[in-house]
Amino acid sequence: IPYSEELGWGKGVLKPYGPIVLDPAASVLHYGQAIFEGFKAYRQPDGHVKTFRPESNAHRFNASARRLAMPELPVDLFVEAADILIRQEKDWVPNAIGESLYLRPFMIATEAALGVKAAKEYLFILIASPSGAYFPQGVKPVTVWISENYVRAAPGGTGSAKCAGNYAASLVAQTEAKAEGCDQVVWLDAVHRRYIEEMGGMNIFFVYKEGGETVVVTPMLTGTLLPGITRLSLLEIAKKLGFRAEERRISVDDWREAILEGRMTEAFACGTAAVITPIGTVKSAHGEWQINRGETGPVASQLREALLNLQHGVDADLNGWMHQVC
Ligand code: PMP
Repeated sequence: IPYSEELGWGKGVLKPYGPIVLDPAASVLHYGQAIFEGFKAYRQPDGHVKTFRPESNAHRFNASARRLAMPELPVDLFVEAADILIRQEKDWVPNAIGESLYLRPFMIATEAALGVKAAKEYLFILIASPSGAYFPQGVKPVTVWISENYVRAAPGGTGSAKCAGNYAASLVAQTEAKAEGCDQVVWLDAVHRRYIEEMGGMNIFFVYKEGGETVVVTPMLTGTLLPGITRLSLLEIAKKLGFRAEERRISVDDWREAILEGRMTEAFACGTAAVITPIGTVKSAHGEWQINRGETGPVASQLREALLNLQHGVDADLNGWMHQVC
């Protein structure tokens, strides 16, 4: 769907997958106005296809658009564009639990204009790809690297927007994590360099035992981390399952002490792609600690199953989170 400042949003077209043509002076290539989203379509037991909270992705997309001085796309149009593409490609929606059709909406500045300013022309594009189970051999805990050399997001920056530049700036830390034998980066806040924010493409959760109670905790939204839709959903699912669920500020020292003192029994990451990924080992320049002996814990397993069962229609959708496409 094209956009111009003069005409607003134009008519969308459905095209076979293939390259797109951009002017070499297209604003996105030089000044980085590029935002995106990611969500999935799931086959239901009765053969229908549903997406999970697509309006939430549309709202987050528009929040990203505002931060990058790009035009907002009406929420209905965002959802309808996905519905049209999914209906067209419905045979590509897999049947197995854990598999899905991944949707990737994005918007780029296409105006040919050298000079730093908000572009006047944009393109909204939606592509789709079947996505297999993230852990085909069963859920395997990951090792994470606490990045101290790099920062993902600073106050007033673009951390809470899903813009391409955030990911570009984080790749070098990902390389560092790999060199340290880790799978993922854990980002700390930019001001104190101490509070845990999130992971490369996922939010983070901790499970504490407090006074005989199991408490599920995630860092609170501070404006520098991405407000994950899985994160928000898990806070609600955890409460329904009878856990206390809270948003708190957690420092890296709190994290280490809670593990060593046995108060933290599990940690896991969550996001659209991996659903829930348990964290088995935490590494930093100062040492290495194991959580739950490096194994997947019961709370992560229970939440993972609850979310997957909801998305795949095994459990009833009591919150009205599923959107029927076809
Ligand atoms: N943080 C970052 C930086 C991400 O890229 C993602 C993936 N969109 C998430 C968190 C998780 O968000 P969601 O649950 O909406 O997929």
